[in-house]
Amino acid sequence: MFYSKEQFKEEFNSQLVKENGDKTESTAYKIIGDMLRKQVMHDWEIQQTVHQQSGDKQLYYISIEFLLGRLLGQNLLNLGFYEMAEEALGELGYKLSELEELEQEPGLGNGGLGRLAACFLDSLASTGLPGHGCGIRYRGGLFTQHFIKGFQVELPTDWIKEGQGIEVRREELALEIPFYGEVSMNVEQEGVRTVHENAVWVKAVPYDMPIVGAKGGTINTLRLWQAETSERPLPYGLGYLVHELETAKISDRLYPDDALDSGKLLRLKQQYFLCSASIRTILATRNFEIEELPEKVAIQINDTHPALAVPELMRALLDDYGLDWDQAWDLTTRTISYTNHTILEEAMEKWESRLLSQLLPRVYLIIEEIDRRFKAEWASKNFDEHTAHKLSIIEGGVVKMAVLAVVGSHKVNGVAKLHTEILKKREMKELNEYFPGKFHNKTNGITHRRWLLGANPELSSLITENIGSEWIQEPDHLKELAYLADSRPFLESFQAIKRLKKDQLIHHLEREHNVIVDTASIFDIHIKRIHGYKRQLMNILHVQQLYKRIKNDANYRPYPRTFLFGGKAAPSYHFAKQVIKLINTVATRVNNDPVARRHLHVVFVEDYNVSHAEYMIPAADISEQISTASKEASGTGNMKFMMNGALTLGTYDGANVEIFDAVGEENAFVFGMSSEEVMRFEHDGTYNPMAIIEQDAGIRETLEELARGEWSDGPHNSDFIVRQLTSERDPYFILKDLPDYAAAHERVLDAYSRPVEWAGMCVKNMAASGVFSSDRTIRQYSEDVWGLSKVPAN
Ligand SMILES: *Cc1c(COP(=O)(O)O)cnc(C)c1O
Repeated sequence: MFYSKEQFKEEFNSQLVKENGDKTESTAYKIIGDMLRKQVMHDWEIQQTVHQQSGDKQLYYISIEFLLGRLLGQNLLNLGFYEMAEEALGELGYKLSELEELEQEPGLGNGGLGRLAACFLDSLASTGLPGHGCGIRYRGGLFTQHFIKGFQVELPTDWIKEGQGIEVRREELALEIPFYGEVSMNVEQEGVRTVHENAVWVKAVPYDMPIVGAKGGTINTLRLWQAETSERPLPYGLGYLVHELETAKISDRLYPDDALDSGKLLRLKQQYFLCSASIRTILATRNFEIEELPEKVAIQINDTHPALAVPELMRALLDDYGLDWDQAWDLTTRTISYTNHTILEEAMEKWESRLLSQLLPRVYLIIEEIDRRFKAEWASKNFDEHTAHKLSIIEGGVVKMAVLAVVGSHKVNGVAKLHTEILKKREMKELNEYFPGKFHNKTNGITHRRWLLGANPELSSLITENIGSEWIQEPDHLKELAYLADSRPFLESFQAIKRLKKDQLIHHLEREHNVIVDTASIFDIHIKRIHGYKRQLMNILHVQQLYKRIKNDANYRPYPRTFLFGGKAAPSYHFAKQVIKLINTVATRVNNDPVARRHLHVVFVEDYNVSHAEYMIPAADISEQISTASKEASGTGNMKFMMNGALTLGTYDGANVEIFDAVGEENAFVFGMSSEEVMRFEHDGTYNPMAIIEQDAGIRETLEELARGEWSDGPHNSDFIVRQLTSERDPYFILKDLPDYAAAHERVLDAYSRPVEWAGMCVKNMAASGVFSSDRTIRQYSEDVWGLSKVPAN
C-alpha cells in the first residue's frame, strides 16, 4: 500500500505547510524521508509479528561490516514507487536524483566483505526469505578520503543524523555484556554453576533498520548494536577505569583496515560485543524450546570476525540454559556455519590467549575446552606434526579464529570456485579431510536491483523493452539478450546509453572535482581498496610506459583512453598510500602534457564509496580485475561491471574465472599467470624479479625513472615502491605479469576499433551475468545450508 501520485503530492504539500513552506531541497528530502518511514513502519511491524508468530526458521547473518550505500532510492525502488515519486516530485519542481544526493551513505564497511553483506540482505528480503543482519552501529563509519598534494588524508565520517533515515532504537531489548573479571565454578546441589565476578559491564542497545525487499518479498531487520555505559557499578581497582572508558567506545568507529589483521584490543571487544549481544537476543526472544535451536535458527558468520559466536553460543547454552557439554556442542555446531573470505596470511585472525583470557575469561575457558576435546578426538590418529598444527585451535599461545570457526560450524564455504578449491586442497586441506563434506562453495553475487536497476535505469529500460521484465524477478532471463548481440538497432541503443552514462559520470565528477575528460575515450576503470595484491601499481606502471611511448615515438598515437582509479588505503598501510601518491603524480604529469593528454587521461576519484561506484560502473568500457592469481578470493566489483556491459580485463583469479567461463574468454581480455604458477613460485621461492629487470629494457627504464624521483614531486616518494619491486622481490608478481598485461591492453585497443563487434561483446557479458545475482547465491545458501522457507506475503 502506498500513495497514488496525487495522494503523494497531497501528502507532500501538507507536510510542506508544517515546514513553513520551506521549498529547499533539504526540506524536501526530509519530507520524503518521513513519508517513506511512515509507509515502511506499518508494513514492517506486521512483518515482525509474522516472523514472531510463524515459528519458521530464521537466519541471522552476523557481520562486522555492512556497507549499505544510500537507502532512500533503493527503498523507493524496492517498494515499486520510484518512478511515481520521481514524477510527482518533478511536478512539484524537484528532481528526485538530486534529493538522493543529500543522503550521506552509511559507510559501515570497508569494501567487498561489507558490500556482500548488504547485497545478501537485499536478496534475502527480495526473495522473501526470513534473514536478518546483526552488526555494529559505528558512530564513525569508514573515513572520508581526501587528497592533499596527492597524498591520502583521512577525515572522520559521522554518518548518523539522529531522526533521519529509518531506524528504531529498541530500548526494551537493551542488554548488558560482561568483560574482564574472574570466573569461578561453584559446586551446588543442581550441579556446577559458573560465576563471573568483578566484570566490567557494557550496555548494548539495538537500533533496528528495516530491510525492504522488492515487490513480492518481505521486510526483514538489520539490527545494529550500539555500546553505551552501563549503570552497573564498576569493580574495585583503578586500572579498570581506563578500560571502562575504552569499553564505552566499542561502537565508536569502524576499523579502517581491509584484509589486514588489526590486532587491537578494541577490535576484539567489538567482535565479542557483536556476537554476545546478537546471540543473547536470539535466545531471549525465541518462541521454541532450546533443544529445537538448529531447526529454528541458522547463524551465518561472515568471515572470522564473528567467530566468537561459537564459544559464546556454547557459554549461553551451558551457563544460562544449563545444558551439558555434548548437547550444547551438538546444538551449536548444527546452528552455526562459516564463510571464509581470504587466504591472505596477514588477514588470518589470531588472538593471543593471554589477551582473550583477560578480556573474556569465561569464553576463553570454553575455547580451551573446545580445543582440548577436539585434540583428544584425533589424539590416537598419529597425525604428523604439520597436520596436528593445522588442526589446532590453540597453539603457541594464540587462538586461530579460522580453525575455531571451522570446528564449531556444520558448513564452511569459500566465495568462488577457485577460492574454495584452494581452501580444500591447500590452506585447509587437513581440516577438509578431517571433516569430509563440511566444505562447499557459494560463489558471491551482487544485487541486480542496486547495481543494474538502481544504478543504470536507462540500460534496465532498454533490456525490458527488448526481452520483457521477467529478468527483474529472475535475472537468469538476461540470457535472452544473447539473441540481440548482433542486432544493429539494439547495439546502437546500448552504445548511446554507454555514452550517456559516461556523460553523467563526468558531470558528477566535474561537480565534485573539476575534472575534464573526453567522453569519447575508452573508460578503463580500476576501483577497489588499494592493496598490493589488487595491483593498482601494475596499472599505473603501464600508464607510465604508455606515456613514455607517446613521448618518444611520434608514430604511436593510440585511441584516447581515460584510466580511472578509485579506492582507499588503510591508514596504516604505507605501501598502499605510496601507490596513491604515485597515481596522483602520474595523473598530474600526463594530464598536463599537451601531447600525451590527447591520448591518455588519468583520474583518481576521491573517496571511493558505494555512491561513486554507482556512477562509475555503468560508464565503464573496461573493468580492471588484475589481482595476482590466487589472492582475490572472489571479487564482486567484477560482477557489477559485467552486468553493466563492461568487458573484463583480468587474471584467472577469484570469480573472474567463472566470469570467463560464463561469457567465453573471447569476450574478455585474459592475461597473466595462473594460480598454480603463482603458488609454485611461492613454494619454490624461485621468482627473481631482478632477472626481469635485467632482460626487459622497458621495465628497467620505468624503474630507473622511479628511482631517480622522476615520478614524484618530493624526495623519496617512490622509494618504497622501488624497494618492494626489487629488494622485497615483487611479492605480487607485478613485473612478471606486466608485459602480458600490456599486450592485453593492445588487444583492447584493437577490439575497440570495431565498435559494433565491441558492443556485441558487451551485450554477451550482460546476457551471461544473471548467474552473478546474489539472489542465486542466497538461494543456494538457503537450500544447502540454512533450510529457510519463504515468508507468506501479508
Ligand atoms: C563492490 C564494492 C567493493 C568490492 O570491490 P572488489 O572489486 O570486489 O574489491 C568495494 N567497495 C565498494 C564501494 C563496492 O561497491
